[in-house]
Amino acid sequence: MKNVYILGECMVELSRTGDGLLKQSYAGDVYNTAVYLKRAFDDFNVNFFTAVGEDSLSDDMVAAFETEGVNTEMVQRSKDKAPGLYMISVDEQGERSFSYWRSDSAARQIMQFVSAENVGYLCMGDLFFFSGISLAVIAPNERDIFWQLLRKLKDSGVRIAFDPNYRARMWSDKTEAKIQFERAFRLSDVVLPGIDDLSQLYGFTEFNKIQDFCSAFGIEELVVKNGPDSVCCIRNGEFNEVAIKPVQQVVDTTSAGDSFNGVYLGARMSGVEVVEAVNLAAAAAGEVIQHPGAIAPKDAFEQAIRP
Ligand code: ADP
Repeated sequence: MKNVYILGECMVELSRTGDGLLKQSYAGDVYNTAVYLKRAFDDFNVNFFTAVGEDSLSDDMVAAFETEGVNTEMVQRSKDKAPGLYMISVDEQGERSFSYWRSDSAARQIMQFVSAENVGYLCMGDLFFFSGISLAVIAPNERDIFWQLLRKLKDSGVRIAFDPNYRARMWSDKTEAKIQFERAFRLSDVVLPGIDDLSQLYGFTEFNKIQDFCSAFGIEELVVKNGPDSVCCIRNGEFNEVAIKPVQQVVDTTSAGDSFNGVYLGARMSGVEVVEAVNLAAAAAGEVIQHPGAIAPKDAFEQAIRP
């Protein structure tokens, strides 16, 4: 059985239902990836390494992880913090905006739970996945713990996968984000950026520029997502551009990249070739964006990847 460890934060998601009520669910970039990876590859052991609180909301959140089959043995409990929260608002033109309450969340303490025992578990993984949001969530004075951990995982032969997922508001400035991301690029075997993220941070709008920039980091597999246009991959010097079939009725693009990552990584770990893995991941993401919220209904998702 393949063992995957995913590091990051899940938040409580609140969305307005139109009648003055709020709908509550759970989401967060790497958590979404964990859910979709597990749904697509049920025989994988998908572990979420995060911290929640000891409150009842945290209990409900962990119960939701379990309902999705995500392994919660690495979910840590902070004694004094609670989960982060965000709310989705939609204006009259249908534009979505997000308000966050996450700056003091339990997940920010995650590096305090990097014990010898937990490092031992993480080193037994086949894959470790994290994102630029995972990096931004780690308290800045605890980043050294993370980099030591990642080095150790790499030296233990764990495959490392990273999605930069740049969110400007989580960083003090671009330089801070670039320094952290470039450390991540250097240690990663697989990097899965969305072109928008690298365009905001570095001004790259074309795959060639990204490829040139990334060539300095020794990345084995670079997979660049460009929305409805295409996905460009380069693996050990072999280039592939895969066209994407645009979805006509896009309802909500939240989690497009996250679901793509989960299915792509699962497929690759199952021995599926790059182009076929992109096609499967794109079928998954194409379905996810036809549903509101980060986590699409399970039946529809499963039909999309196992037609
Ligand atoms: P991110 O969400 O990380 O910014 P993208 O917007 O590039 O990433 O979307 C990730 C994946 O979702 C794409 O590679 C593609 O497979 C799928 N996708 C996104 N938008 C569309 C769309 N309009 N039609 C079909 N597939 C889409």
